[in-house]
This record gives sequence, C-alpha cells and structure tokens, in this order.
Amino acid sequence: MSNLFYQTKSPRPMLDRAEGIYMWDSTGKRYIDGSSGAMVSNIGHSNPAVLAAMRAQMDRSTFGYRLHFQTESSERLAAKTAALAPEGLNRVFFVSGGSEAVESTLKMARQYTLTHGDPQRFKVISRYPGYHGCTLGALAITGYAPMTAPFDPMMQRMPKIPAPRAYLDGLDADDPATGGHYADMLEAKILEEGPETVLAFIVEPVGGASTGALVPPAGYMQRVREICTQYGVLLIHDEVMTGGGRTGRFFGAEHWDVSPDLISISKGFGGGYVPLGAMIARDDIVEAVIGSGGFIHGFTYAGNPLACAAGCAVLDQIAEHDLIGNAARMGDRLRDRLRGLMQRYPLIGDVRGKGLLMAFELMADRHTKAPLPTELNAHARLVDIAYENGLIIYSRRTRGGTSGDHFLVCPPMIVDEAQLDDLTERLDRSLASYMAEIPQ
Ligand code: PLP
Repeated sequence: MSNLFYQTKSPRPMLDRAEGIYMWDSTGKRYIDGSSGAMVSNIGHSNPAVLAAMRAQMDRSTFGYRLHFQTESSERLAAKTAALAPEGLNRVFFVSGGSEAVESTLKMARQYTLTHGDPQRFKVISRYPGYHGCTLGALAITGYAPMTAPFDPMMQRMPKIPAPRAYLDGLDADDPATGGHYADMLEAKILEEGPETVLAFIVEPVGGASTGALVPPAGYMQRVREICTQYGVLLIHDEVMTGGGRTGRFFGAEHWDVSPDLISISKGFGGGYVPLGAMIARDDIVEAVIGSGGFIHGFTYAGNPLACAAGCAVLDQIAEHDLIGNAARMGDRLRDRLRGLMQRYPLIGDVRGKGLLMAFELMADRHTKAPLPTELNAHARLVDIAYENGLIIYSRRTRGGTSGDHFLVCPPMIVDEAQLDDLTERLDRSLASYMAEIPQ
C-alpha cells in the first residue's frame, strides 16, 4: 500500500523520466504528454537551458527569505513579467501556485477598496462552471459543486453567473449579441447584489478544466470590462492556465485586447520545473495599498530565488523559440485534426479552444447536447484507453447544470507537426476502442 492517497480512478504507472513532450514509466513504456500534466509543462520536460539556470542558481542559494533579502532572480523575473503584462500592470507579487495567486488577487482587491473607505465592498462575482483553486478563498469563487459542496459551511459563498456556454444554449458564439447576452448577466447580478457591495469579478479568459477550454463569445470580454468599469468593480483575469502562451498569446485576454486590474498566473509560468505563480497588479492599486500600511499577505516560499531563476529561464525559452507562435500554429493543426475526428465519431459533440488549450466533449447526442450516461464513466474510461495507447490526456466530467465529459488536449508548446499527428492518431485509436465497447 502506498502512503500517498491522491485520488485517481485507476492505478497510475510509476514515472521514471521525462524529456520534451514524452514521459517514460518505470517499465520503459513511453507516453506522449498530451496535456502537459495539468496544462503546466508548456515548454516540455527537462529543457537543458532551464535545468542549467536552476543548477547555476542552486550553486548560489536556494532560499532567501523575501523580507530579509532582495534576490537578483526575483527582481529579474518581476521585470520580465511586467514587460509582458498589459500597460499599467507593472507590480508583481510571487507565490508558489495558482490557488495562492488567486487568493492574492482577492486580498489585494479587498485591501484596495479599504483605501477608498469602501468597506462594504466584499463580494467577488464569478462563474459556474469555473475553477479558481482549492484553498477556501479560491473555492468560495469556484463554480464546481463536486469540489465546493462539502466545504460550503466553511466559506462565505460568493455570487455566481453562468459561464457563456453558447454551444449548449444554441447561440452563435461569433455574434456579438451573444457576448452581450452573457455579459449582461454580470450587470444584472451586480445590480441584484447592490453595486456598492461588489468588490470584483473574476474570469478565466479561456476556460480551463471546469468548462473544457471554453472560448468566450464575441464581444463578451470587452463588455465585461465596460460593466466592471461602470460599477467600480475590479476585474480579475485568472490566467493561471492561460498565462504563459498556451492560447497563442502570452496572456489569454490579449485575444480580446482587454486589460484587467489584477491577474493571477501560475502553471506554465514555472513550466513544471518549480512551484511558481504570481499576482500582477495595476500600479496604482499597489501604491494605494502600500501607502495605507502594506499588503497584509505573503507566503514563506514566495519569491524563492530558485523558483524565480527557473521562471526567468522558462520565459527566455518561450521567447527564444517563438513557442507562442508555435502554440498558435500547432493549435490550428490540432483543431483541424480534432474536427476531423468529430466527423468520424458522432460521439464528439463539440471541439473548442484556442491555440494549444484545446478540448473536445463527448455527448450522447450532439444535436440535443444530451450528455453521455454517468454510468459510462467516459471521462475516466477514455483516459485509461489512451494510457494503454501511450497518450496522456486530461478529462473532467462536470454535472449538475453543467456539461458532460470533456477532454483537454494540450501538449507542450514545443510540439511539432509529426508529434501532433502521432498524438491525434493515438487519440483516434483510443476513440475507436472506446466506441467498440459502449452500447450503440
Ligand atoms: N485557477 C485556474 C484557472 C486553474 O486552472 C487552476 C488549476 O487548475 C487554479 C486556479 C489553481 O491552481 P493550483 O492548482 O496551482 O493551486
């Protein structure tokens, strides 16, 4: 028996090593990392330049408490991050993961409103389905009942609006009226709650695991920005999964040319080399909070010099090898391949995503959008079959007013055409096996 008790539906192999887009288990079997772990290993595994940068930093120091020392690598990473961020967001606060990054934005927003003498603003509106992390603050704004329900009494539950799933509602995602329709739900919620009580709205620019790479309809992100500005509500972009280039832009929201007030980033930021995340904030927000006595927040490992040295090297690799451009190009190819599979497998009801943040959803009927019966456990079974075929994909089944079984296909941004075709061929075989075993 293992002393670990992580939950997996089936026993998983023992990892031996990983390189590029591949991972090997202890029996020597090779897998394509078709989901970059949990959309983390954006630049691939064992990148020699990142490992060298980490070794160099390890020889100097692996820890320097941020309140005792400035560190060169954290200064450098903050400067690089600010240079990539939207105009006016130049202040960076490091953390060790996505949930911590989200918590940081919530607390920064709250402290900022106090500097205006606005203590009644505390509500953070979010969306369902939506995912922002598993700490209690982040869970309070997470719209995913299987993860939140047991902890409900421990949290201040925050107001939610539906995520703009035009494909389920039979609306045209390319029509700006559709974006307006869903964004108006935010305005209605702000008015219902009382604008004077609403602190912030948090949104994943492209959805992650909970929606399966949901892309907002035309005009949505822009209208959301307008509404937040109109009601003095801070706009937080949760770019924990989208930040770092996977969607074909460094920040997902760049696709819609909108700028938030606060950003959370993690996953691809450390690229799987080290636990790393950050909050990026509007300069005047940080100035106001510091001016009022300081940000009442901070984690022991925040700004760790080893993590920041790795983060710098990850960002350098992304730039030097044009990995964002590659994510956009390979994303187009992947979308074509998945659409090809959709033509052959009626079970695939939708293909969506941006760049290499791509997903498909299985449905019993793509016209009625009826989900597959729960007993089929499609989200778990197809992943197991893919494992047998040397392919790792990421799945989620979200129920209760939400969608069915969706699968994220998100290989590292270094993937090339031949590797992508190999990946989709393995997926094709896995779908064929799955089809063969379910009742028709
Ligand atoms: N926010 C988003 C959008 C995420 O996708 C995730 C993780 O999947 C998180 C926050 C939480 O990040 P972590 O698991 O690193 O705490």
